[in-house]
Amino acid sequence: MIIKVMGVQWVLVCHGLVTAVVVVSFLCGRWPIFEGTFIQRIHYFLTFGAYDYFLRFVGAVFGSKCTNAILSVEYYCCDRPNPLLQILYLLIIGVTYYFIANSCFAFIPGYYLSEIHRYISLSVVAVGILLFLLTSFSDPGTVNANNVSHYIKAYPYDNIIYEEKECSTCKIPKPARSKHCSICDRCVARFDHHCGWMNNCIGEKNTRYFMAFLLWHFLICVYGTVAIGLILAGRLKDFKVIDILTVYYGIQNSFMDLAPHVVQWLLGSYNTQILLMVFLAIVGMLLAGFFGYHAKLCLSNTTTNETFKWQDYMEWQRKLKEAKVSAEALKQSISGMSSERQPLLSKWRTFFRKSPLEDVVVVKNNVYDKGFLHNILEVISPFSTRRSFTRNKLKSS
Ligand SMILES: [Zn+2]
Ligand SMILES: [Zn+2]
Repeated sequence: MIIKVMGVQWVLVCHGLVTAVVVVSFLCGRWPIFEGTFIQRIHYFLTFGAYDYFLRFVGAVFGSKCTNAILSVEYYCCDRPNPLLQILYLLIIGVTYYFIANSCFAFIPGYYLSEIHRYISLSVVAVGILLFLLTSFSDPGTVNANNVSHYIKAYPYDNIIYEEKECSTCKIPKPARSKHCSICDRCVARFDHHCGWMNNCIGEKNTRYFMAFLLWHFLICVYGTVAIGLILAGRLKDFKVIDILTVYYGIQNSFMDLAPHVVQWLLGSYNTQILLMVFLAIVGMLLAGFFGYHAKLCLSNTTTNETFKWQDYMEWQRKLKEAKVSAEALKQSISGMSSERQPLLSKWRTFFRKSPLEDVVVVKNNVYDKGFLHNILEVISPFSTRRSFTRNKLKSS
């Protein structure tokens, strides 16, 4: 019997690990820290490889008509605005809340939680949905013919990653830091990324709601995990499980001896609550990573879009500098060979000398970074919502 229960525990642990690896690979596989690891390969398989095999399989079995149908579904789902992920978000939060209410509310009030948590939990979820709606349906900072000149004034060109350009689709000048979103078919100021979950761009005006959404949902996960933990601790207390284990079964009253028996008892009686706790903890950790990444960007006044631009720029500059240094080194060695009055020692020195390529340093000069206080203020109160922006508007019109 015990072996059977232990087996179930191991299955649960393996299931949890596999789920965690798949979720982390899918969502974070492109992060630089996973470069060259199996996480990146799983990410590639999940996001591209598996789909490619599926398409080839369908093509071989059902013919090209079927493949075309799938491709048009893909076009609708990935390249056009659509509410599929928005519905999925509402489903996830609704179903999770339903399961929590169904399996946990019976134990509230409990030994550690008072009745008020029934209402707090409902309100925190309501605020979460409100932030979701705010991010989804607010204007991200659409650039149009009327406001483009003000945006150009607000965001000067740095002539490094942004220079004067026209949007080939909108036929208006492209302010620095803006980007044309091909899914929404509009130019967005201080463009960060197009968010499928929100079915909206994240840009100048709604980055603040997006950040609040991430932080709030992270806090919801922490609250949920802790609250369910306290419910289970309350159940242990109510049933005097520790006393029974130590007094009746004579198990030593130490954490190491008690923990396996307590976990076994909880898994047997409260598996739904434990699964919910694990789910909330995993989602919470992912949200923490995502929020941390975006907070770092906000603090240095960079956008997700700009991180790619900087990567390209730095790569290009490094190659250019390396080529220059190599050419210089070659020139020196040729002139060294031609001069015959070199002392013998210099050969050794040349041999052990530092490689000139080690000195190649490319500096990232982000002119929009004006100190973290200013940067945070720019996210909380975007330029286009400030009075100075409107004053400029009145002056010119
Ligand atoms: Zn455009
Ligand atoms: Zn968009």
